[in-house]
Amino acid sequence: MAVNSPPTYGGRIAPSPTGLLHLGHARTFWIAAERCRRAGGVLTLRNDDLDRDRCRPEFVAAFQRDLGWLGITWAGPMITQSERLPRYRAALRRLHAANLIYPCDRSRREVAAAASAPHEGEAADDEPIFPRKWRPAAGTTLPPLSGDDVALATNWRFRVPDGETVTFDDGLAGRQSAVAGRDFGDFLVWRKDDVPSYQLACAVDDGEGRITEVVRGADLIRSTFRQLLLLRALGYPQPHYVHCPLMRDEQGRRLAKRYDALSVAALRDCGKTAAELVAGFRDAKGLGL
Ligand code: GLU
Repeated sequence: MAVNSPPTYGGRIAPSPTGLLHLGHARTFWIAAERCRRAGGVLTLRNDDLDRDRCRPEFVAAFQRDLGWLGITWAGPMITQSERLPRYRAALRRLHAANLIYPCDRSRREVAAAASAPHEGEAADDEPIFPRKWRPAAGTTLPPLSGDDVALATNWRFRVPDGETVTFDDGLAGRQSAVAGRDFGDFLVWRKDDVPSYQLACAVDDGEGRITEVVRGADLIRSTFRQLLLLRALGYPQPHYVHCPLMRDEQGRRLAKRYDALSVAALRDCGKTAAELVAGFRDAKGLGL
């Protein structure tokens, strides 16, 4: 066996079944699949279905159909986040043992009201910065996490290393950096309805899945700083990141699942072929292909 051989390229695509895939998702997923194919890697499909209120099984079937229609194939069975809660709990226990998290009863509304005005470039849907005054002093003894079969009824937050600059070199967006405690604060890892946060679930899945390159939309750049801290805290290597520019409609609005006009399904129904869509993605400039 070769010693020091580079790890096999591990890629993934991770749709959330909260609506139909639109052209922007299709382009990002196609880029992810194409980069993986060129690297001779293995692509995993992950179903990000932790948001119980918004996810619907019919959208899982829809994204599988749309991806297949676009010619995107993946290896092995699909990973479904809602079936992986024990893995996320195990990670939470490790963060708890390392004193890197603390319980928190503040509501999102309270945090939003206390946070200063959004920073420049901060997305409106980004997690507001948690005020430092509400964080327990370092070294405070943590209450235990309840047993595996007992639901957690409190939010838990990750204590970010204040003042540390977190940096990564993005394959499309260039060098990115943010200062912990200033650009983003202590963030949720577990919610009181006993569901892990997207940040924790994603870091665990990317880490355990040996993902070497994450290709996703540029709206998640700010999440990447948080996920890098979690990956490090959990002992996983840092993947390479490629954040694809978001697609906008003619009025310059970001495509969203609530506008179905540019859904892959609607485009297919009105006679577009997958080859036409893919040709458009291939021709687009600045996508690193
Ligand atoms: N499920 C997320 C989305 O649809 C993507 C998560 C990720 O790629 O990390 O926006």
